[in-house]
Amino acid sequence: MPAVFVGHGTPMGAIEPSRWTDAWGKVGATLGRPKAILSVSAHWLTRGGALVTASGFPAMNYDMYGFPQPLYEVRYPAPGDPALAQEISATVNARSDTAWGFDHGTWLVLKYMFPAADIPVVQLSMNYSEPPAFHYEMGKRLQFLRERGVLILCSGNFVHNLNFRNAENPPMDWALEFDSTMNAHIADGNHEPVIDFRKLGRIAQLAHPTHDHFLPIFYFLGLKNPQDTVSVFTDGFQWPAVSMRSFVIS
Ligand code: ZN
Repeated sequence: MPAVFVGHGTPMGAIEPSRWTDAWGKVGATLGRPKAILSVSAHWLTRGGALVTASGFPAMNYDMYGFPQPLYEVRYPAPGDPALAQEISATVNARSDTAWGFDHGTWLVLKYMFPAADIPVVQLSMNYSEPPAFHYEMGKRLQFLRERGVLILCSGNFVHNLNFRNAENPPMDWALEFDSTMNAHIADGNHEPVIDFRKLGRIAQLAHPTHDHFLPIFYFLGLKNPQDTVSVFTDGFQWPAVSMRSFVIS
C-alpha cells in the first residue's frame, strides 16, 4: 500500500470544501482499497508511551472548541479493527485504548479520502516525550503494515503556527522558506535534515513553535522503502503560516 502525509488545516474543512479537500478525495481514489487504515494524527499526543484505539466502533472525538454547531454533527462511522490494534500494540509496545476514538486529524481527512467510511480505521497516538528520531524509527517499525494492505495516514501540517490567522494575508517569508527547504530535502531523499529541523533555528521555531503537527512527517518518511517514490499531491498555504503540502509514497 502507499502511505500519505496530509496537511489537514482548520477543522472547518469538514464542512467547507476547498481545493485541498478536493485533492484528498482525488488521491483517495488512486490508492486502491486498503484492508484497513492506520491514522497517526497530530491531535493525539501522549506522554511516556503510545496508545492505540482498540474499540470495534470508535466514537467521534470533537477535539476542538468554539466552532459552529454543524462541525460537531459531522460523522465518520467507520468501524475499528481490534485485531489489527492488538498487532500494532504488540509491535510498537502501545497500550490499548477505548476512550479516544477518531479525532479531527483523522475524520476531517478520511471523510473526503474514503467517503463511504466502510474501511476499518485504527489510530495510534504519538509519544510526545520522544524526539523526532524516535518517531522516524516508529515509521520504520510500522512498514510491515504496508505489505499487509494497510494504508497509513499521517495527518499534521508541514508548517503550523496559528498566531497568524488572517487567511487574506500572504504566506510569511519564513513559512515559505521552511516549506520549500524541507520539501527539497524530502525530494532528494535526504531525511536527516528533516529529522534535525530544529537546526534551522529561528525559521524552524516560527514554523513550528510546538512540533505536534510536524511529528507525523517522521512516521511518513520512516515508512518509505528505498525503491519508493515520494510525490507532492497538493500544496499551498491555508493561512499565512499553515502549509497544506501533502505527500504520497507509492
Ligand atoms: Zn490540526
